[in-house]
Amino acid sequence: MASLSDLPIRDDLRGLSPYGAPQKHVRIQLNVNENTHPIPEAVATDIVASLARAILGVNRYPDREFTELRESLAGYLGHGLTAENIWAANGSNEVLQQILQAFGGPGRTVLGFPPTYSMHSIIASGTGTTWIAGERDAGFELSPATVTRWIEETSPDIVFLCSPNNPTGTPVSLETIAAAYEATSGIVVVDEAYAEFAPDGVESALSLLPGRERLLISRTMSKAFAFAGARVGYLAADPAVTDALRLVRLPYHLSALTQAAAIAALAHAPEMLAMVDDIRTQRDRLLTELPRLGFHAWPSAANFVLFGGVDDPHAVFEALLEHDIIIRDLGIPGHLRVTAGTATETTAFLNALESLQLH
Ligand SMILES: *Cc1c(COP(=O)(O)O)cnc(C)c1O
Repeated sequence: MASLSDLPIRDDLRGLSPYGAPQKHVRIQLNVNENTHPIPEAVATDIVASLARAILGVNRYPDREFTELRESLAGYLGHGLTAENIWAANGSNEVLQQILQAFGGPGRTVLGFPPTYSMHSIIASGTGTTWIAGERDAGFELSPATVTRWIEETSPDIVFLCSPNNPTGTPVSLETIAAAYEATSGIVVVDEAYAEFAPDGVESALSLLPGRERLLISRTMSKAFAFAGARVGYLAADPAVTDALRLVRLPYHLSALTQAAAIAALAHAPEMLAMVDDIRTQRDRLLTELPRLGFHAWPSAANFVLFGGVDDPHAVFEALLEHDIIIRDLGIPGHLRVTAGTATETTAFLNALESLQLH
């Protein structure tokens, strides 16, 4: 058998390793910000009935325009959006890749603000787009002045803002997003994968869309909607943006089964989202309890908490694994990230952490 280095692979991919959190068989999985609550059984039954109807038609290609799904997503988002404003793909990662295929690519640049979602720079590299790493203010914040300065200094073709930001949990204010838009003639992408978990008073950037045809808001059904395994991400933007994405998408990229499952799930949005409040409560519990155990918890508007004051993150990660609990070590010195799970899972995590006697 040959090895990767024997193949005539692209020079810029040589020596890289594939991205992905470890997928281990661990009882309590709090490492990739999934919704740890399974979808309600009544909804599952309805989704299965839809899939059963769809499977009878899989001899034909699916609706290339996934019109019914776009209508359902527009209805879910509200804000006066219609199907024309919506695009979808197999996870928001694919949506982001299509954005970079259409608006980035060789000779173009994308500005992001680490620490942020690792896939942003990885998708940049996969599409040959040059990644520019900006810097955040203290406490992982991003002020309008800071984004404006970075945009003026680097003139990127695309700006990625992640709100709330993964892995820090920090929301980005609408003032900062509007300032970024004003400062560039390029594309501004707001990755709102965790928007549904935001505390009251933290507003979605969807309200900024009218009159801003270069603003793209990406969302996913993976997190709040408990649909990570189904792979459905989407985007809201000016209809012209979806025309751009049609130029780079593969025909029929969303399978008939994916479309059927997502439409059926969206018809039950309130039940699918019923656990979001519970999860927010567990997130708030982590924000209160972690400091009581001597850690610094960064404010979070998402379903996870980044905490600092960990002397040896790798050792704590391994010790929790011994308790059948997996969290995330992102390589941020002194820090670990934990997903807010069910009440039982969150209790198990906090108890295990306390028992490690780190202080
Ligand atoms: C989890 C996550 C996504 C979701 O990706 P999918 O491909 O939709 O599962 C997107 N952006 C961020 C910041 C995330 O953390």
